[in-house]
Amino acid sequence: MQVSERVKGIAASQSLAMAARAKAMQAAGVDVISMSLGEPDMETPEHIRRAAQEAIDKGWTHYGPVAGIASLREAVAAAQNANCRLQIEDCKFEAADVIVSVGAKMAIYNAIQTVVNPGDEVVIPMPSWVSYTEMVKVAGGKVVAIQTKYENRYCLTADELREALTEKTKMLILCSPNNPTGSVYSHSQLEALVEVLRAYPEVVVLSDEIYDALVYEGAACSMAEFGELAERLVIVNGVSKAYAMTGWRIGWLMSKNKAFIEACARLQGQQVTCATMVAQKAAEAALTGSQDCVEQMRQVFAERRELICKLAAEIPGWKFEKPQGAFYLFPDVSALGGGDKVAEYLLEEAHVAVVSGSAFGSPECIRLSYAISTEEIMEAMRRIKMAIEKLK
Ligand code: PLP
Repeated sequence: MQVSERVKGIAASQSLAMAARAKAMQAAGVDVISMSLGEPDMETPEHIRRAAQEAIDKGWTHYGPVAGIASLREAVAAAQNANCRLQIEDCKFEAADVIVSVGAKMAIYNAIQTVVNPGDEVVIPMPSWVSYTEMVKVAGGKVVAIQTKYENRYCLTADELREALTEKTKMLILCSPNNPTGSVYSHSQLEALVEVLRAYPEVVVLSDEIYDALVYEGAACSMAEFGELAERLVIVNGVSKAYAMTGWRIGWLMSKNKAFIEACARLQGQQVTCATMVAQKAAEAALTGSQDCVEQMRQVFAERRELICKLAAEIPGWKFEKPQGAFYLFPDVSALGGGDKVAEYLLEEAHVAVVSGSAFGSPECIRLSYAISTEEIMEAMRRIKMAIEKLK
């Protein structure tokens, strides 16, 4: 069988590949600690699991509306509006502005498919989450990668954006809090980008805010704080990271642009019909129930962040800024030969799986996920330090 040219060109996810290698080594009896996957190690909170069990018993087992259960779409809109510090009238969301998908990943995929034509340029600041680039390629779009700078915490600047935009630019993808860097854009940093975008009214802004509940200094700023973008803004979020619900596969996109929402729903209708109904009811319980569980998990990650940063500071040849959000550390290891070499070495020598920054467009770095237990973080960092000291 011949695989299509379109799919032949897609790179496999390096973070999933590294996690699979770690699992295979573990199965073969090697004591590998995996810091490669971006998923909370906590269980989904009990009240959410209970809501799913009730949903099964109450018969939420049939096809549902393409764009999601009405009560969940309402809860999504309400949560977004409540989270937004500046209440901008133009960016107040309603249930009709929301499409629930099979994870934020699918929401992003659908948004790109709905907007990008072959040959269109999509601007992506690097380093970036592994999947944006491949999704743009599937749509036939051209990725315009902007290399951001360490000294700016890898945040895109107005000048960098201005240089990358052309009349062929169709979309800009932003992610804050960021995977893999852990950086969080401030309101003024985003404002500077919005000012540049003013001269490019056709450019759609896809804002991936999946880590917005996991911020350790201040609060995340949503792109919904910029009302002037309302008609060309798509916000993506979901329950995976904030509620430890990665396996439930529920995420969503929101937009005030009705034509976009209608087109996107048409695409989803021919693709998955709707996201899993039981999982949607669980997500609804997550959004409408007590948010104490989110704060408890955030505090656990905050403590782990302190720990990993303290231990990482003792490792020779690593250069990093303390991450402000998400659950990743992204040190520059160019002094040790770069991300590919160091990731390979750490797996073989220290039995710790990390992901090379080349997966994210920054080959000088490695990414370590600290969504693992305190004990594992301490042991992993002890092994890493010993292995790196051997290199000297
Ligand atoms: N966006 C970013 C930046 C991510 O890191 C991830 C998951 O790792 C996703 C989107 C996808 O999340 P979901 O599990 O909801 O598909």
